[in-house]
Amino acid sequence: MSETIFSKIINRELSADIVYEDDDILAFRDISPQAPVHVLVIPKVKIATVNDIQPVHAELIGNMVLVAQKIARQEGIDEDGYRLVINCNQHGGQEVYHIHLHLMGGHQLGGLS
Ligand code: AMP
Repeated sequence: MSETIFSKIINRELSADIVYEDDDILAFRDISPQAPVHVLVIPKVKIATVNDIQPVHAELIGNMVLVAQKIARQEGIDEDGYRLVINCNQHGGQEVYHIHLHLMGGHQLGGLS
């Protein structure tokens, strides 16, 4: 599978502002934040898109949501609220083909369009 910029961050070939790491998951601040808090939560194993998620990944994907919940609490945005988004393929606006959960918050977010 081809490398993405996120593989380089996982392998520490590219720096990032990492806010969480465990054996399976990494989270770092988005380089072009769309909200005061904008963190990307990614699995260390490469899954290109939501279409590539398999039943064996169910626990991993669930843990990504739990990591996002933990970061939201750390960032102090859990009570006011936040948004979790996964873009898929071209119409979904996906640019990096290594699945990632956007955690966005810190102000009132606009409607989905
Ligand atoms: P998506 O459009 O869902 O694929 O989102 C990709 C996200 O990755 C965008 O929000 C980019 O700003 C972000 N991004 C791209 N390169 C980097 C990087 N080197 N470090 C942090 N975030 C990045």
